[in-house]
Amino acid sequence: MTTSSLLQASGLRKTFGDNVVLDGVDLDVPEGTTTAIIGPSGSGKTTLLRSLNALTVPDAGTVSIGDVSVDFGSLPRGKEGRRACERLRAQSGMVFQSHELFPHRTVLGNLVEGPVQVQGEDPDEAAARARALLEQVGLAGREDAYPSQLSGGQQQRVGIARALALRPRVVLLDEPTSALDPELVGEVLAVVRDLASQGWTMVVVTHEIRFAADVADTVVFVDGGHVVERGPARDVVDAPQHERTQRFLERVL
Ligand code: ADP
Repeated sequence: MTTSSLLQASGLRKTFGDNVVLDGVDLDVPEGTTTAIIGPSGSGKTTLLRSLNALTVPDAGTVSIGDVSVDFGSLPRGKEGRRACERLRAQSGMVFQSHELFPHRTVLGNLVEGPVQVQGEDPDEAAARARALLEQVGLAGREDAYPSQLSGGQQQRVGIARALALRPRVVLLDEPTSALDPELVGEVLAVVRDLASQGWTMVVVTHEIRFAADVADTVVFVDGGHVVERGPARDVVDAPQHERTQRFLERVL
């Protein structure tokens, strides 16, 4: 594992009306590592994650992924600003709480759409890669199914494969299991665990604290728009230093 940072965020600030949701957040994700973001509901976790690929545009702060960097505080207005956000967005793949697959496309269609339409990949090559990714998430043979024919866990695994199909530098996962029935959570977490062991760089917002302790390299505890504590995953979860982290973990573990 290398220790050079692939993703760096600094000074992220975001306000919705009077609500300061991110109040100067820094994040540093070394290549090949997994960072889990944990914290109470409403603490700004999703806003932080979405800021990393400019799905939410922060008011200030910078995000760098590889050699693509955006300073949101001095983002040009209009087309130029949008292009800068799109360049940043192209560095990461996003997995949403509920998969947001295209309902009228097959599983394979969902996976090749981005690579072919957006990235201009040859359709046959994109399809071959898509099949390999489906095998990786345990869905070989389901290429021709439509999302509605799959279980929630299978749909979410397609969502993960779709994010990977874009060949991102970083995979961002926003509570990937929170919309699932409890019995389907494990199969999705197993895929994320597998990706971590393969050296994907990932940032995952999760309520699955034990999973975070087991699979992530780093855990970041966010509360009230601040990073309260960060450190090696097991240290933060099993021996939190800050009182706010301790109180949160006592409630949820
Ligand atoms: P978490 O993921 O930790 O639950 P969020 O980042 O989703 O927290 O939300 C943090 C706060 O920001 C909440 O108070 C939420 O209501 C507010 N918020 C998030 N997105 C928006 C939005 N698009 N417009 C207004 N308020 C928002």
